[in-house]
Amino acid sequence: MTRRACIIAIDGPAGAGKSTVAKHIAAHFGFLNLETGAMYRAFALKALETGVDVDDAAALQRLAVETAIKLEPAEAGNRVLLDGVDVTGRIRTAEVTQAASRVSVHPAVRAWMVSLQRAMGKNARVVMEGRDIGTVVFPHADLKFFLDASPEARSQRRYEQTEPVAERDGARAEGRARDAAKAARIAKELRERDERDRNRAESPLRAAEDAIVIDSTNMTLNEVLKFIEDQVEEHLRLPVVSEEL
Ligand code: C5P
Repeated sequence: MTRRACIIAIDGPAGAGKSTVAKHIAAHFGFLNLETGAMYRAFALKALETGVDVDDAAALQRLAVETAIKLEPAEAGNRVLLDGVDVTGRIRTAEVTQAASRVSVHPAVRAWMVSLQRAMGKNARVVMEGRDIGTVVFPHADLKFFLDASPEARSQRRYEQTEPVAERDGARAEGRARDAAKAARIAKELRERDERDRNRAESPLRAAEDAIVIDSTNMTLNEVLKFIEDQVEEHLRLPVVSEEL
């Protein structure tokens, strides 16, 4: 069987399960998995560490010129290299998360990221996950999915990925109160990021017109995976029409 280039775009808001789904789909089909949010996170980390204001477009543009960001797909997820240094374990903090959301509103930052991402996806078999893959990075992607879920479900999923305080402290009232405060904080952060992603002037978060929208609020991970796998399998059975992306 001839192998052909294939781009599968998975976009959607934070907490919709994109990373988990993209990882499984990529592994299932033997595709590369490129998580573009990690690139914005790495750049945000650099801005924080070099003291560049994440709201200063001109300073960020200058910083971008002297920054190298690379994603290395690995079994356990993407390894993120910032100027050659592995920062994978340092880009998931709340501070970096918020900063990533802020640096990503600037058109010059986005243009730079988009060119890196296009180069990474060129002639590859890849699942690329982000906010603007189907709309901007690869508008001619082979398949586009927009993975959504209610804000409540997304906050709950994010919360469940964190270590519960109550469990660690036993079922003490204090632990439970701290859990509730943490859940409220996560929901607030998610709301803020959503708003910024959806309302920015440059490539706001939205489903591409030809994207398949999946509302996973009441779906299990396996149901989402099965649905996407079926679509991809069907697509891969089609004859190759054009190699142009
Ligand atoms: O996906 P993740 O939550 O890791 O992304 C971090 C931030 O990077 C998001 O809040 C979003 O603002 C930004 N982002 C983006 N475009 C992408 C991927 C991420 O603007 N393609």
